[in-house]
Parts: sequence; structure tokens; C-alpha cells
Amino acid sequence: MEKPFEEKLKVMSREKFGKGIEILSCDELYALIGAYVNEKCDNHKKNDPKRKRAAYFSIEYLIGRLLESNLYNMGNLILTQKSLTDVGRSLSELNEIEDYAFGNGGLGRLAACFLDSAASNEIPLDGFGIRYKYGLFKQSFASDGSQQEHPDDWQTQGDPFGIKKEGECVQVNFADYSVKAVPYDYHVIGYNFKCINTLRLYECAAVNCHESDAARIYEYLYPDDSSWEGKRLRLRQQYFLVSAALQNIVARYGLEDIENKIKIQLNDTHPVIAIPELINLCVKQNMDFEDALSLSGKIFAYTNHTVMPEALEEWDCELLRQTIPQVYGIIQKINDMAIFQLRGQSDVDFNKCAIISDGKVKMANLACFVCSDINGVASLHTEILKERVLSHWYNIYPEKFSNKTNGITQRRWLGLSNAALTDFLCRLCGCDIIEETEKIEELLKFKDDEEVIKQLCEIKKINKKALCQHIKEKEGIELDPESVFFVQVKRIHEYKRQLLGIFLAVYFYLCFKEGRNKELPKMTFIFGGKAASSYKTAKSVIRFINNAAEVINSDESVKGKIKIVFCENYNVSYAQKIIPAADISMQLSLVGTEASGTGNMKFMMNGAVTLGTYDGANIEICEKAGQQNNYIFGMRADEVISRKESYRPKELYESNAVIKRLVDTLIDGTFGKENDFAHIYDSLLNTHDADRFMVLADLCDFITVATKAAADYKNKLDFGRKCLMNIGSSAYFSSDRTVREYAEEIWFK
Ligand SMILES: *Cc1c(COP(=O)(O)O)cnc(C)c1O
Repeated sequence: MEKPFEEKLKVMSREKFGKGIEILSCDELYALIGAYVNEKCDNHKKNDPKRKRAAYFSIEYLIGRLLESNLYNMGNLILTQKSLTDVGRSLSELNEIEDYAFGNGGLGRLAACFLDSAASNEIPLDGFGIRYKYGLFKQSFASDGSQQEHPDDWQTQGDPFGIKKEGECVQVNFADYSVKAVPYDYHVIGYNFKCINTLRLYECAAVNCHESDAARIYEYLYPDDSSWEGKRLRLRQQYFLVSAALQNIVARYGLEDIENKIKIQLNDTHPVIAIPELINLCVKQNMDFEDALSLSGKIFAYTNHTVMPEALEEWDCELLRQTIPQVYGIIQKINDMAIFQLRGQSDVDFNKCAIISDGKVKMANLACFVCSDINGVASLHTEILKERVLSHWYNIYPEKFSNKTNGITQRRWLGLSNAALTDFLCRLCGCDIIEETEKIEELLKFKDDEEVIKQLCEIKKINKKALCQHIKEKEGIELDPESVFFVQVKRIHEYKRQLLGIFLAVYFYLCFKEGRNKELPKMTFIFGGKAASSYKTAKSVIRFINNAAEVINSDESVKGKIKIVFCENYNVSYAQKIIPAADISMQLSLVGTEASGTGNMKFMMNGAVTLGTYDGANIEICEKAGQQNNYIFGMRADEVISRKESYRPKELYESNAVIKRLVDTLIDGTFGKENDFAHIYDSLLNTHDADRFMVLADLCDFITVATKAAADYKNKLDFGRKCLMNIGSSAYFSSDRTVREYAEEIWFK
């Protein structure tokens, strides 16, 4: 018989630290729980060694906290909390422990959701990535409201979940030196302990170079690539990851029949260099080049995540030749093969398909030529790939293309972050909706049940109060939980159009100040997100929002009517607090730019309505929950394209008083010194490609639709019903559904 849980922890504390739990330091307590989790996993049933597995190669994993999620999936979270309380301790003592933040945003968070969903659905999927020394930078705001970046030294409290595998180190060779890849394995625990997969993250150590050369390779996520050396470092990182992962995989499975033992999903173009590297490893073991190429075609699949031209990676041939010459030689041979094969076919746009052209290697073309499968991440996105971005490949290989609409794990984004709503749904739907998520649809039966809607509103109110408390502590700003919460949290980028969000807040502020729209409810605007450290315009937008917030929050004439807060250091843990408290989810990207979005799905599942454009997965959210239960504004896809050609933002500005008034707040001193935000002003009106993301074209319709949403909020019952309809229709956006589609249609078909 296994010892009861409390006993087990006590015994381990004595064994490991020679003292009782009640006197452990916080770091020791963290280490104890980590050791407990790992031991429990080691004793758990092993995976079937004969079954084919899938591998996920990703440069990012935006995991968040593992402590609660591991215990939750093991079914031990409540029990741990209770046994700690019994000895006068609490998990909340560990609240300051940093997130595991080996990622930037959506793409890295998707990787983390997929791992959780695969393990929870007994799908054998392992992740491979880099164990960065520093995670995504920590953000703070200077007194002038500008973003400051600080290194995220995430290991100061230790890393009790990572298990170093010294015996599985491999060597990675560059032209100028070799390094050692040191794997750390993290158990990925399925819900109810169903199955355990592995996330393997590599650190880098020197073999025949300076320690500092090796250290640089795993030091930061996305080092600055404005210089040649910076680009070279990024290439080294990517190659380091895939070469190490492939060597481990080939060692584990052998080359014989490997296509029936492993399938590798490439998360965007960053790991695409794995394709020539696998061929390289095969050729070294005396396989013919052509056989190795055909083998690669069976093993790799590619997911595209963006239609932005600047994000489709290209590597300078010279850079490749200098850094990994053997791999570059193989890329040249693949290119020759592509030319040979495609030349025989009609309707091939040779220039667009070129793997090597203008002295550069086009990684997306390399992926599309070789991979068995190519997918987009939402319906609209996949259609755009087929019609525009990758149409030259769709014409040749239509059978390779499919859509896999993104999803989110309901374990973290509902069960862990919104326990009150989860419990309520479980009671109403008569099952564990974390396990049987399709049953969340049962909620729709209660759409006319006033009592149920009232209870949903009550849960939201409690979540809003909790967020107000947190924001008061962290940001020093007092918010009103009775007000309607408009939320826009995500990476700061021009295409995501945080400018629309802040212009809306400024619009309402001016209305209230000047005595218009008095009937609208009290409002709170919550922003959050980081800007890339070198992204000037995005950083200006942060400073503008902070400056506007300062003026508006301290303006006595609108006291009680409107508040704005920009939450510092938005990350997964902060998201888990903000999202359950949102009333209105702002998803404002220019149509055709946001491939899918996943933040939108988290909000939906937690009962916020979407105020958004008809872009990415917003479209599918509306299809499932009903257009009438969400607030869609702005141009549609065809309109964006037709208007873009003759777009003159200056004319809009000059002819529309509302637009002019809002845009002028960037330079007229309303929020700071005159001309303080001239950089943003010029990017909207005066630069070569002025207002590239058509903020001004959508601004008026946005204000109209947002005003409607705010007014609707006053009718608690009708608004609450819309929230209910969104929650009840959200099962499709579980990443359980997404990974099952990958498993059935790509990995194990
Ligand atoms: C979900 C998530 C994102 C992605 O948000 P989008 O709105 O889809 O861009 C980014 N960062 C964090 C911390 C997240 O949890």
C-alpha cells in the first residue's frame, strides 16, 4: 500500500532536508513538491515502447507555472493545499515563483496547450525545445510610462521539475566549433494521470570553444538579429535544437523503419532546418540522398503561423555556408531535386517555389516542398495560405494542405484559473466538464433560465473583485468591479491594433468629460502585453496608453466613470487572473493579419463576449456562439484588399472630426508634452506606407459597435445570456479537439 499523501510528503521532507515541512524555506518547499511530483511520475506506468510517437519541435514553450498545473492534472492540488494547511504552510507562499516563460506569445502558448492536451488524451506526443537561461524579459514601466526590460532569471527558486539527463547528451557541430546539448526532461502529466509524455529542453555546454560561445546559444529567446552576428546566433540556436533532438530520436528509434515510429511536427519555420539535418544524419549512416529525402517527406509536417511577409524566414546562403556547411550542401541538393521534379510539371510558379533564390534560402518553401502535410491554424488563415501566401504550393500539392483551428487547454484556462465557474458548470452539466468538455453544450439548455444567468453573473462579479484586489496590489490603481471591463491583453504589435483600444477609451473619456453619452455604464479598460525591445512604434504605444491612463485616472471631472490600467509584465499567470474577470474581449487585428489568435478562445470559454474584427478564429467563435452574441465591426477580408490600394489615411483624418480629435491627442499635449507621440502620429498619417494596418479605416465603426456593447451591458440579463451562449459554445476551442485532429489526420493516419 502506498503511504497516504500527507505521510508521504512528511517522510520526503525528513529524507531530503532532515526537517519537518513546517520549517522548510520556501525554496525547499518548492523542491519538495517538485520531487514528490517527479517521483510519482517515475513510478507511473510506462508508455508503450512499440507505439508510434509524435514529436513537436518548437523554439518556444510559454508554459506558465508548473506547480499547480502538475498537481491539478495528478488530481492532487486540493489535497496538497489541505495537507500544507494542516502543518501551517500554504501553496500561496510560492506565488512569487517565476513562470516558465520560454516563449513570446500565442505560438509558444499553443505548444504548451498541445502538450497538456496530448497527455490528457493519451496521445503520445513529446516536445523538444531550448531551456533558455533567461525566459522572456520581465517588463516594468519607468516614470514616463515607457517599457523597461529586465532579464527573467527564472531559476532563482530552483527548478524542481527539470530532470537532467547527462547520459543522453549529444554533440552539435558548427563549422567553427562544437557544443554539447544537455537535455532536461519535464514530465507532461495528463489529466487524471492518464498518461505521461515528456518535454525535453536542451542547455548548451562547450566542447572545444569558449564557455561564453556555448552559453550564448541558450541564453536568450530570439536574440537581436539586426546584425550579421545576431542572425548567426539565431541560426545556431535553431540548428542546435533540431540537431540535438534528431540525434536523440535517431538513437532511440534507429533509422530502420523510422517513418513508422515517429512523426515530427514543425511549429512554424524556426525548426525547419531539421529537414536537411535529418538527411545529413541519414547520409552519414550511408543512406542514399534520395532515400533520405523521401524518408524526410514521410517524417515531417509543417504548421504555418503567420501571413506577415516579414515573418517567413529566410537565411542568407553565405551565413549557412559559414555556420553549418554540411547542412547547406544538403539544402543545395534538395533545391536541385526540387527544380528537377517541378520542371516536369505544368502550372508551376518556379520563381515563387524556389528554395534558394537571390542568395537566400526560403525556409517555408523548403518545408512545403518536403513535408507531407502543411496546415494553417484557423479557417480563414488556411484559406489565405491556399489563395495567396502559399498558393504556388497549393497548386502543386493541394492534398498536403489542411486546416487545424487552434485551441486552448481547458485545464489551465478554466479548471485552474476559474474554479468557481468550473464547479458551477460541472453541477449544471452533470459531469466533469474538464474531462468531458463537449458536455459544456448542456449549458445552452439554460439560456432562458434567469437563475442560471444570475449565478453566472455572480461568478463573474467575484472574479472581477479578485482581479481588482490584485491590480490594486500590483499596479496601485483602484478599479470598480461594478463597471464594464473592456480587456485587450496580448503582445503589443501594430497589426493587433492596441491603438484602436486606447482610442476607444479616449473617445469615451472625452464623451464623459463633455457630458455626452451619459447613459453609458461605468467603464474600465484593462491593457497588458510586452513589446519587442527593438520595436519602436509598439513601445511608443505602451507609453501612450500609460500616459493617457495617468491623465484620465486622475481627472476629477470623470471620476467614477472611467479608469484605464496597463498591467505590468503580462504573462501566463497574469492572464489566468485577468481573463476570468473580463466582460468584453477586444480582438482588434486588421482582418487578414491574425492567423488565429488563442486569447480570444480563453475569453470566450470564461464567458466574455468578443468585440472584434472578422479575423482569425474570431470568425469561428461567432459561427459557434452566434453573431448576435458577439460584437463584430470593421472591414471584411475582401474589403481590406480592395480598399488598401487607394488608402489615404490623411484624407480620412481631415474629413472626419472624430478621427481628427482622437489622432490629435497624440500631439496636442492632452496626454503629456506636445508632440510627445509624433512618432505614432506620423506612422498613421505621414510615412511612406502610412497606417499600414488601417486603424483609421475601422475606427468609426469600432466606436459605434463598442458603444452598442457598452449600452447592452446595462441589461444584465440579456448581456449575461450572451456570455452563457459563448461559454456553452466553446467546447470546439479546446486544444483536445485540435490535437486529436493532428493525431488522426497527420501523425498517426
Ligand atoms: C494566450 C496568450 C497569448 C496569445 O494571445 P493572443 O490574443 O492570441 O495574441 C499571449 N500571451 C499570453 C501570456 C497568453 O496566455
